[in-house]
Amino acid sequence: MEKTYKMCQSCGMPMKKDPNGGGTEKDGTKSKKYCSYCYKDGEFTMKGTAKEMQEFCTNMMTKQMHMPKFIAKFLCHNIPNLERWKNK
Ligand SMILES: [Zn+2]
Repeated sequence: MEKTYKMCQSCGMPMKKDPNGGGTEKDGTKSKKYCSYCYKDGEFTMKGTAKEMQEFCTNMMTKQMHMPKFIAKFLCHNIPNLERWKNK
């Protein structure tokens, strides 16, 4: 059984908040691990370091999702511990 994740393992966004319900694999199936912002057609849209992802993610949450900055920072705080970054 494939594991399902509550949060995107690249940016930490709750998967429930993803309007597309997850990223897509190369064959068009939904990814249960990464959100549609991070992962498209089997590839990461944001290539960079965990720190860059944190900045990108904080910006996106405050500017596009209109979250208070302290919440965005809190949600993005955990990014380096997510599966995408953990093994690097
Ligand atoms: Zn994501």
